Amino acid sequence: MKIICIGRNYAEHAKELGNALPTEPVFFCKPDSAILPKGNPMMIPDWTKDLHYECELVVRINRLGKNIPLEFASRYYDEIGLGIDFTARDVQDELKKKGLPWEKAKAFDGSAVIGQDFLGVSTFQNPKAISFSLKKNGEVVQSSDSSHMIFSMDQIISFVSQYMTLKIGDYIFTGTPSGVGPVISGDILEGFIEEKNIYRIKVR
Ligand code: MG
Repeated sequence: MKIICIGRNYAEHAKELGNALPTEPVFFCKPDSAILPKGNPMMIPDWTKDLHYECELVVRINRLGKNIPLEFASRYYDEIGLGIDFTARDVQDELKKKGLPWEKAKAFDGSAVIGQDFLGVSTFQNPKAISFSLKKNGEVVQSSDSSHMIFSMDQIISFVSQYMTLKIGDYIFTGTPSGVGPVISGDILEGFIEEKNIYRIKVR
């Protein structure tokens, strides 16, 4: 199982970090060891002073595919979940400056929160505009819907599958909207798809 993450997929978020809008999906991977075990708190690593949450819709791949044509991409998932792409922003900024890969800042233990509940695509009134939000200590800090993605879930699947075979059980984090920010010990993060609470994470 692998975790593929899309960067800069919401215009407002690209802007808030001072990045240009991508002309094709930007992606990177997290290893399976990055998944925060269910019920565990997020322990802030001692090597970062600026750990950020990034709330993202997550697609779980349900069939094997390579070079998937765009018109068939929707056949490769039937459930949508929600996660957090935890990012050590200070470390990422250093790596970006040097043109180095982002793994140190993005792929560390616990950096991938994946909520237990996945919701059937067919249960959404409009699967092209799935709304989601993140609350930090009870206050909404991120809120958007999938219609604001620069590259749709289907476009992402088609694009990524040109480079990597997608396997059953792979996860794709589809990018974060604006409103990313730091966490400190004691914070509580709660993710929602529409009104449904998908996860609740304590930060330590
Ligand atoms: Mg992200």
